[in-house]
This record gives sequence, C-alpha cells and structure tokens, in this order.
Amino acid sequence: RFITFEGGEGTGKSTQIKKLAERLMAAKLRIRVTREPGGSPGAEIMRHLVLSGMGRLLGPEAETLLFAAARDDHVRTVILPALNQGTWVLCDRFADSTRAYQGSLGQVPEALINAMQRVTIGDLKPDLTIILDLPVEIGLQRAAARRGSATPDRFEGEKLGFHQGLREAYRKIAADDPARCVLIDANSVPDTVAGRVWTALRDRLLP
Ligand code: C5P
Repeated sequence: RFITFEGGEGTGKSTQIKKLAERLMAAKLRIRVTREPGGSPGAEIMRHLVLSGMGRLLGPEAETLLFAAARDDHVRTVILPALNQGTWVLCDRFADSTRAYQGSLGQVPEALINAMQRVTIGDLKPDLTIILDLPVEIGLQRAAARRGSATPDRFEGEKLGFHQGLREAYRKIAADDPARCVLIDANSVPDTVAGRVWTALRDRLLP
C-alpha cells in the first residue's frame, strides 16, 4: 500500500506519519517512511538545492523540473522497490505538493506538470492521500515554533496570501478526487488528529 500525506506548513504531517507508522508496525506490517522533496540520497541533494537560497536562482519551470528529477530518483530507487516487496510506504508529500505549490501557486502551466508527472510517476497512484487541513495562521505559528531561531526555508517565508492559496489548492485536490483523498481537520492535539487519520485508513484500506 502507498499512502501519502499532504498539507501546508505546520499542519503536522511528520508527526502524523510517525504515529501512523507506529500503529501499523504494531499491527506487524512492514513500513517504509519517506519524504519529498528528497527520500533518496540523490533526491536529498536536490532538496537542499531548492530549499536553500539557490532555489531563487531558478525560474519556476526549472525549479519544477528539479523537483521532478528528485521525484524520479525517489520513485525508482525507494518507493517502487519497497512496494514491490509488499512494504507499506508512507510518504511525506508527493505529487499533490507539485500541483499545489508549483501548479496552483507557482504559475507553472498544467501541461508541464502533467508531462512531468507522466515521466516520474507513470501509473503509480497513492492508495490513500491524507490531506491535513488547518487555518494558515495556526500552521505558520506551529512552523515558527518548531524552527526556533533558524531562518524560514524558501517557502515558509512566503506571505500569508501564498499559504491561504495553498490551503485552497489542497482543499480542491481533496474535493476533485474523493476516492483517493481524505481531508482531515488538523486543528486538534496530535493524538486526536491521529485518531481521525486511523479511522480514514481503516475505513478505506483495512479489511
Ligand atoms: O514538508 P517539508 O517542510 O519537508 O517541505 C519542504 C518545503 O518544500 C516546504 O516548505 C514546501 O513548501 C516546499 N515544497 C514545494 N514544492 C513541492 C514540495 C515541497 O515548494 N513540490
């Protein structure tokens, strides 16, 4: 099974992935937790390139192609081999991040995004996508608290309107593909949100 987690800044994706992985491991399932951008040694280098100031040197199309190169490596070297062995893969961000960040907000033409997705992911489709939804002010406060005195990465530092647009983009993705996506209210303590995630997964994927 392939499960992806999506959402804006500070929505709690990594916390929820960790909790879900623990629960699935307790059920004796083999789990691989991974993330994008990154997730394989080569893709982590590209993650560093886009998230550091260097990303600003690229135009939106070039940046999107760099994300695509990272995804291609990650899918081929990590995700597909794990799925082929029957391991459940939990991925922090995947193709919907590209549609939300580069497509809806980055003004990259949909045709380029579609072409890129065809090359990098082909027929691979998550069995379930958990989209964590939270008012942007709360998410940004959480992200700032987590970061401490470190400087925000390239995307966290964007203006409020950017993050609002992102939230809308994710809500639209959830509404457009209800068979795959579940929109989860993330404005609660982690264990409560984890309960919602578990219910969604159990209803859809467990016999
Ligand atoms: O979720 P995480 O904080 O690890 O993501 C790293 C950063 O990359 C985030 O700030 C996110 O906004 C950005 N990103 C992006 N486009 C993607 C995936 C992630 O701009 N396709």
